[in-house]
Amino acid sequence: MHIPKTEFLYGAPHIRVLQPYVAGSPVSAIAREFGLEESSIIKLASNENPLGMPPSARDAIDRKLHDGAIYPDPDAFDLKKTIADRMQVPQQWITIGSGSSDLIDVVTRAFVEIGQSVVVSEYAFSAYRLAIAAIDATAIIVPARNFGHDLDAMLHSIKKDTKLIFIANPNNPTGTFHSPKNMGEFLDRVPKTVTVALDEAYANYLVDEDQSCVAELVMKYPNLIVMRTFSKAHGLAGLRVGFAVAQMHLSDLLNRVRLPFNTSTIAQAAATAALNDEEFLYQSRSMNFIGLEQLYRGFQEMNFFYLKSAGNFVLVKVGDASVVYRHLLRDGIIVRPVINYGLPEWLRISVGLPGHNNRLLHSLTTYRRMVIKPRHLR
Ligand SMILES: *Cc1c(COP(=O)(O)O)cnc(C)c1O
Repeated sequence: MHIPKTEFLYGAPHIRVLQPYVAGSPVSAIAREFGLEESSIIKLASNENPLGMPPSARDAIDRKLHDGAIYPDPDAFDLKKTIADRMQVPQQWITIGSGSSDLIDVVTRAFVEIGQSVVVSEYAFSAYRLAIAAIDATAIIVPARNFGHDLDAMLHSIKKDTKLIFIANPNNPTGTFHSPKNMGEFLDRVPKTVTVALDEAYANYLVDEDQSCVAELVMKYPNLIVMRTFSKAHGLAGLRVGFAVAQMHLSDLLNRVRLPFNTSTIAQAAATAALNDEEFLYQSRSMNFIGLEQLYRGFQEMNFFYLKSAGNFVLVKVGDASVVYRHLLRDGIIVRPVINYGLPEWLRISVGLPGHNNRLLHSLTTYRRMVIKPRHLR
């Protein structure tokens, strides 16, 4: 193929310097690279639900397949109604996104102008910084405290031109968490001129007493947007649905910015079914608690330092993470390096089915034995 050269630099300067989002490697790519069977590979890299899709969502999709030639409902009426009933908020307070990462982008574009600033925590979900950079705004990055959000420091870092604060609670990739009480004290102190985007992607994995009440929160704080996703505990990462809840004056703006057909008909139907599937949520949550304990125990036995997680993944310190990552790949296990977060010695490992977790721990143990073997025996 002939590729013509050009002297002209395409793209806006602030876009040319963007670093693309780093996703967990897909199974198919790893199978090709390492000559493995796709079916033998386990992916513990993207915090997906190891139980797969809820059967109720699969049925809902089947019933909607024949509508494939027709545009989806741009207002996602059924889905919004289901969310509104469940969360006890007006339907008009809801914005549907193509996953909540879409909403991160929408929120940033709706509330921040070029050159204005947004407060984020060090080690916070990387999509925030990408969204900020994409509109040529400035990220104020607040040093983490014990790997988590330092809420006091974040408050103190607010500048005159700060329009938005992103909070991930629980946070990915660290699994750190602030109680509803801490979060309330923080929200009380945020100036009302600054919008807070509270990303609760892992809320469904929390124990009951740590669950926030979305209705109470958004009712109390006129500057708050709470974001949830169907990608994690609801098991629909491939279908791309998330939602934001905020008072009318905020949600109206979000709904103007989002694209009208940002979720498909089958995604809306699946999400509606999944939200009502309490049995599946309960199973996902119980299995996650068991899996977390299993991983913690394994890491302790290997003397690996890890952070207790409020999500469905664990951040563990393994030494040279890129070497350990390659070792695991050769064993057909995909996890997530977090060097892009400035954590080159750590891996983020999603909780899998008990058998998957065992395979991971076994492979890690093998690695551990290899590296601690005395030099003359190597
Ligand atoms: C996974 C994740 C999301 C959302 O992902 P979507 O699939 O786009 O809904 C949002 N925030 C955090 C912190 C996440 O870890």
